[in-house]
Amino acid sequence: MQNNIATTTTTTTLNNGVKMPWFGLGTWQARGGEVKAACKWALTAGYRHIDTAFIYGNEIEIGEAVRESGIPRDQIFITSKLWNDFLRKGPDACMKAFDDTLQRLKMEYVDLYLIHWPVPGKFKDAWRTLERIYEEKRAHAIGVSNFMVHHLDDLLKEAKVIPAVNQVEFHPRLSQQPLLDYCVKHTIQHEAWGPLMQGQISQVVELIEIGATHRKSIEQVALRWGLQKGSIMIPKSTKKERILANASLFDFELSPIEMARIGALDQGKRVGPNPDDFSF
Ligand code: NDP
Repeated sequence: MQNNIATTTTTTTLNNGVKMPWFGLGTWQARGGEVKAACKWALTAGYRHIDTAFIYGNEIEIGEAVRESGIPRDQIFITSKLWNDFLRKGPDACMKAFDDTLQRLKMEYVDLYLIHWPVPGKFKDAWRTLERIYEEKRAHAIGVSNFMVHHLDDLLKEAKVIPAVNQVEFHPRLSQQPLLDYCVKHTIQHEAWGPLMQGQISQVVELIEIGATHRKSIEQVALRWGLQKGSIMIPKSTKKERILANASLFDFELSPIEMARIGALDQGKRVGPNPDDFSF
């Protein structure tokens, strides 16, 4: 259990030595001037990690926000992701997609590049392309997203580079403990998407009482729980007050009893697609 995460800039060390902040800003469904403003508020508030993807259509604005923040590039951790269509088209399309991502960001490297979804029959080929990108040092770390245990087992049989990260749906209603254990065992850092259940966490009323003990909101309790479970948290908001509130996680700690109470809320409930059954 992680209790030593002290600030928004505290990092975990990935299996290749790269340091990745435990906390960052999600940006799905945030575009244009809205995402740019959100990134700037976040960076001013101490966030040093931004999560994007080709499919979010916001890499240009995120690159602009990083440059306009005046914070040196090497102090900000940027993740992007390879979209499914490129996996289906093959290795050349994957490499071009990565080149285009760097061009939109106007960056020489990303800190982390992920395969967005485990497209059946395609993700092992795509991984070889990510390994090349990694060898070229244009991604300081490479990883996967939405991989279940069987996908990871399959990939690890052939991978030269062990994925540094697996980003999956994770929140108190979907803890997928065996997947988390697998990641720990194989030195793959677990990262959560949808840590606030894409806005539905407010319906988990069991968190209210724990929040009241610590004078924290349901959202803050859910995010703190995730961090203490050992998962990287990237809540998305485009609202300044929420961006600030979501980062107020480092002045309290959940007790083992509270952690267990939240752990017992798991219902295997997804708010997003099932990685074994998606059609996009
Ligand atoms: P989140 O669980 O982060 O929830 C985001 C939603 O919650 C938004 O509607 C936001 O609204 C709202 N919200 C944020 N903070 C608060 C708050 N304090 N109180 C009440 N409501 C709040 O869902 P996401 O799906 O966005 O996941 C986080 C990130 O993970 C994404 O943005 C993306 O970067 C990544 N992701 C990755 C996926 C993958 O396949 N790898 C899939 C999905 C997401 P508002 O903006 O109006 O504040």
